[in-house]
Amino acid sequence: MLKHSPIRNKKCYICGKRALSDRSRYCLTCARFAFRMKARQFPPWVVKKIWEYVRKYGYVCYYTGMALDMTDPRSPFYCVFDHWAPHDLSKIVITSALINGMKSDLSEKEFWYYVRALAHLRRNHVSVKKRKLRFWDHHYDLEEENKNILSIQTCSRPHTGICDLCSKRLKNKLFTYCPTCVKIVYRLHHEAKHLPPETIEDTLNYIRQEGFICFYTKMKLDMKDPASPWYCFLNHWKPGDVRKVVITSALINVMKGALTEDEFWYYIEALADYKDKGKPIVKKRLICWNRLVRHDRKAKFRVNS
Ligand SMILES: [Zn+2]
Ligand SMILES: [Zn+2]
Repeated sequence: MLKHSPIRNKKCYICGKRALSDRSRYCLTCARFAFRMKARQFPPWVVKKIWEYVRKYGYVCYYTGMALDMTDPRSPFYCVFDHWAPHDLSKIVITSALINGMKSDLSEKEFWYYVRALAHLRRNHVSVKKRKLRFWDHHYDLEEENKNILSIQTCSRPHTGICDLCSKRLKNKLFTYCPTCVKIVYRLHHEAKHLPPETIEDTLNYIRQEGFICFYTKMKLDMKDPASPWYCFLNHWKPGDVRKVVITSALINVMKGALTEDEFWYYIEALADYKDKGKPIVKKRLICWNRLVRHDRKAKFRVNS
C-alpha cells in the first residue's frame, strides 16, 4: 500500500479539509474566501470574527442557516458579505446574494419584522403596519421628471377639468392630470422605457380603480417624499417582462428584486417559517435571477503551489 506523504495530509486550519499545499494554511474554498476578505480590506478584528463564525458553523447564511454557494457568483445563494447594521463596519456577516438583496438597507430586526408582517398578510390578510426604517437610504431622483413633466400634461386626452387618473378637480383646465398623477404617468412613458401601450393602459386602469395602493401588499403609497420607503415605484411583475408593470413601494421593489411574484411570496413565507418554527428553508430555483456578484480585484489571488 502506498503511504501518503505528510505534505498531502496537511489540513486547512479553518475547515479541516485537505489544504492546498504544504505551504498553504487553507483549502481552496477557504483560500478564496480569505482572498475576498483581503480584497474588501476588512479590519483584522472583523476578519477574526468572520473566521470564528465559519469555523463554528461552516459556510452557512448568518440569518437563515442556508448553505451558501462558494463557487458560482451567478447563483442567488452565492456567499456575500453583509453589514449586519447598514453602513456599520464593525459587524460583518455572511449571507446569500438573495437575502442580501432582500435585506438591503434594513437592520436585522427591521428585516424580520417585515418578513413576518408580509407572511402574516399573505396568509391571514392582516395589513402590514408601517414601521420607520432607521437606515433607509434609497432616494428616488426627481430631477429628470421635474424637467419634462409638462409634455405629459398637454397630451391628447380630452381636457375635462378633472384628473384623468384620480378624478380630482384640476386648477389648470388645460391639463390632463393633477400634480400627483402626472408624475406616475410620466414615469410610465419615459422612465420604464419601451412599455407597450397596452401595458401602460393596464397600469393606469389599476390606479384608476385602486388608487395609489401597492399591488403586492395593498399598502398606501407615498406620492410626495422620494426618500420614503413607501414612495411609489413602478415594478416589473416578472423581472424584465414589459407586459405587466405594477406599482409598489420602494421597499417592496427592493425586497422583491429579481424575483417573480410567486418566488417573492415563497421566500417571504419560508423565511417567516424559519424564524418562527425553525423550519429549514428549501431552496427554490429562481427563473429570472440574473445578478452577478462582482469581486473587488484590489488584492491578487495567489494559490501557493
Ligand atoms: Zn477550508
Ligand atoms: Zn390625479
